[in-house]
Amino acid sequence: MGESVTKKVRNIKVDLDKCNGCRSCEMACSAFHAKPKYSSINPARSRIRVVMDLVNDEYVPVRATDYTKAGCDGRRSYTINGKEYSECSFCGTVCPTRDLFKEPDSGLPLKCDMCEDEKEPLCVQACPRGVLTCEEIDAVQEEVKPDEMELGMKSLIDKFGSKKVADTYNRMTQKG
Ligand code: SF4
Ligand code: SF4
Repeated sequence: MGESVTKKVRNIKVDLDKCNGCRSCEMACSAFHAKPKYSSINPARSRIRVVMDLVNDEYVPVRATDYTKAGCDGRRSYTINGKEYSECSFCGTVCPTRDLFKEPDSGLPLKCDMCEDEKEPLCVQACPRGVLTCEEIDAVQEEVKPDEMELGMKSLIDKFGSKKVADTYNRMTQKG
């Protein structure tokens, strides 16, 4: 069992009314997380995506959260201030029912890391309209979260089965 600890965590607040869907946040995030850093820009690799419905004047910046093997049984949609948002608009889960937050080449899940080593998250810095603001809040954490490597492994095991992943790993790490 993990221990409970209180620590400061970052939270990004979103002022939905101000977003115009320029996608600067997506570009900044993907450039910052490119390897090497800033070597490419590809919104498909961004850990923040703007869910858009132009007809409905709907622009919702959503950050990637956790990987899940299966989609929800139902769908959630919201009405806020009289405006209806399309289903799953606010969901950051890396889910098999949509293409968001998957590394385009490998399909491996992407997750927002809050740009923890930076003074301010890159998406917050990049937004020209002040939609995104970062604050530090106290949060009780139960246990250490799986890192990106574990998440990637989990999704590979879900996709190919543990035997195949183990066999491939063994083959790749054999000397000779
Ligand atoms: S906080 Fe960092 S990792 Fe998360 S969406 Fe913004 S730029 Fe991407
Ligand atoms: S950079 Fe700001 S205004 Fe542009 S899409 Fe992202 S959140 Fe919206």
